[in-house]
Amino acid sequence: VSLLIALTASLLSTLLIIRLFRRKSFYNELKEAISKSQVKPYFQPIMNSKTRRIHSAEVLARWIVAGKVIPPAQFIPLAESSGLIDDLFFSLYQQTVQYKLKHPEVGNTIYAFNVTPSQIERPSFINKLIAIALFKNELNIAIEITEREPFKDIPRVKRYLKLLSAAGITIKLDDAGTGYGSFSYVQELGFNVLKIDRLFVDTVGKKEVSNEVLEGIIKFSKTANLTMVAEGVETQEQVNYLNQFDVYLHQGYFYAPPLSADDFLHFIRSSVKE
Ligand code: C2E
Ligand code: CA
Ligand code: CA
Ligand code: CA
Repeated sequence: VSLLIALTASLLSTLLIIRLFRRKSFYNELKEAISKSQVKPYFQPIMNSKTRRIHSAEVLARWIVAGKVIPPAQFIPLAESSGLIDDLFFSLYQQTVQYKLKHPEVGNTIYAFNVTPSQIERPSFINKLIAIALFKNELNIAIEITEREPFKDIPRVKRYLKLLSAAGITIKLDDAGTGYGSFSYVQELGFNVLKIDRLFVDTVGKKEVSNEVLEGIIKFSKTANLTMVAEGVETQEQVNYLNQFDVYLHQGYFYAPPLSADDFLHFIRSSVKE
């Protein structure tokens, strides 16, 4: 009987979600969810494999509907095309600030927020971002900008990234190696950190695929003096391989998946303190 109840409950919430996404008012639902903080920040630790301590945390959006977790792939594109992406960013930021106020022990790390290339080209967004970085000493933040989509106005991006850097924000190139940024422009635009895409970390330990691209990215980053973070680290073999190339900042299921606020708090509390 309890199995039947569980099945019915899960079917009902699935139906609810389907209805929600069929409705024309998907936009309104998302807008309301953002304003009610129902799109929540999850936190995935970025670990230093050498010291075994947490280096920073990536903030990843999760929409909670009827107790179910909706992944960002299902709503970030709409947020981006409909102009809700800035509201989403500042909502995640504010929720993280509140989280730190409530639990000061989560406040010692850097929080890395995802930002789209189109946001970086918008003066209104840049102004607000600089304001929170400069005038409020709330959080130590980094931004991750994906190179999966191209920038339109490179000189403008260069100017804006300089301002953000000057305001104390670390600038990370996300999904490095998969998109539009030729390596020379990565350097020219003033990125501080390069995140090696999972695609390339995945080649480690697979005999049928070569690691050449991965090694190329690592070589380039070393020459350009860029800090590297490897994403999608899932196995001990990948950890060893990256360590051997002096890539010590790792993110992935091997260490922890993206965690809810409660789970991340437990993670911080139980991680080694030296
Ligand atoms: P991303 O920035 O490349 O984020 C990393 C993705 O890899 C996350 O997926 C994360 O859950 C997943 N991941 C982490 N470790 C592993 C691993 O070891 N193995 C595998 N297979 N996957 C791993 P998620 O959370 O579904 O996010 C997908 C994308 O949505 C993100 O890719 C990012 O581009 C975008 N996104 C998420 N939150 C936001 C946000 O607040 N704003 C914006 N603009 N984009 C966001
Ligand atoms: Ca990211
Ligand atoms: Ca990434
Ligand atoms: Ca990626």
